[in-house]
Amino acid sequence: MKRVAILGSTGSIGRQALDVVATQGDRVSVVGLAAGRNWELLAEQAVRYKPSVVSVSRREDAERVKARLGSDIEVLHGEDGLRAVACARGGDVVLVAITGVAALLPTIDAIMMSRNIALANKELLVAAGLMITEMAKGMGVRLLPVDSEHSAVWQCLHGRQTEVGSIVLTASGGPFRTWSREAMERAVAADALRHPTWSMGSKITIDSATLMNKGLEVIEARWLFDVDYDNIEVLVHPQSIVHGMARLTDGTVMACLSITDMRIPIQYAFTYPDRWEMELPALEFTALGQLAFEKPDFDRFPGLKLAYEAGRVAGTAPCVFNAANEVAVNAFLQGGIGYFDIVNTVQAVLDKHEVVERPGLSEILSADQWARGYAGKIIRRVNG
Ligand code: NDP
Repeated sequence: MKRVAILGSTGSIGRQALDVVATQGDRVSVVGLAAGRNWELLAEQAVRYKPSVVSVSRREDAERVKARLGSDIEVLHGEDGLRAVACARGGDVVLVAITGVAALLPTIDAIMMSRNIALANKELLVAAGLMITEMAKGMGVRLLPVDSEHSAVWQCLHGRQTEVGSIVLTASGGPFRTWSREAMERAVAADALRHPTWSMGSKITIDSATLMNKGLEVIEARWLFDVDYDNIEVLVHPQSIVHGMARLTDGTVMACLSITDMRIPIQYAFTYPDRWEMELPALEFTALGQLAFEKPDFDRFPGLKLAYEAGRVAGTAPCVFNAANEVAVNAFLQGGIGYFDIVNTVQAVLDKHEVVERPGLSEILSADQWARGYAGKIIRRVNG
């Protein structure tokens, strides 16, 4: 029996995680659930999965949830609530599936309580990779990748850490893979939200359209697998069937393939080191036709290049990269700025930033805040 706490249970990953729980009913139980604003769905989930503690962002929503649930379930709110769910009594694994750096403090709490971390949120390792990986190592806690590419690389690496030359993350290429630069300049949020292979939350879907998502994943991979940026390769693979690969030192390449369904990596993070069966359609090779691979185009997707640069600078640079991107993506989603303004904003914020080399928690949080403020200022200027 695995006992899981889910941060972000009402989101795309969170709901798929609960699907996994539903299908594996007697082998996985839920000890805690946390959400943001969607209190009604959280209340429904709590009735069905019976955790001991739940949390929502706002006090008034917590009151509404309380009115729906009996007194057996503790109902909390805000950051304290999120942190309490991360540390819910009896938990083995905490699935971190809320967006952004709001995940930082609850994840640190969970690590300090010796909970293994199933990590969907990629911003966390981007913003605080050194700190989180050192903490996890110190506490003997596993960081279990949920992102499909990282889960794939992780599976390719099992037992082979010393034989690995480099790793390969694949990218679908997003909706603009075949668009010209001129067409991309005119792209609006609705164009960017049409992802060809994955169905995900809106922030990550825009990041997939800019390849910023792949950039965040490159930085995430650097920390998860302790590899240099020179040894992390990105390949555009439109079919999204090969999710990740490892090039071994003798030239052998290990690849991990599956259908595009996030429930597979979510379940594996829950069950590791075991692997449980799943009732999903089989991968039919003869129906695939071909598996294609292309080099990413840094001219049309400059955000990927910028991510490598920020990653190599290290310190607070990746944190600033992530925070500025989050603000710019929100502005793009609201129609406030254009496609290339996203990367231009991130570049301008990075140019202005004074990097702290080995940041602690307070320096990470203040770099994040500063980057958000400065990105907002730039966006207001773009809007005239
Ligand atoms: P969604 O936007 O669909 O869901 C986000 C979840 O987090 C919701 O449950 C939301 O609550 C909750 N949430 C957000 N902010 C807070 C907060 N401050 N306090 C409490 N809860 C909060 O995102 P996704 O599920 O798509 O992505 C989640 C994370 O996983 C991201 O970091 C993403 O990069 C990563 N990821 C996602 C993949 C995917 O396929 N979707 C694939 C790989 C990684 P509510 O809705 O109630 O407001």
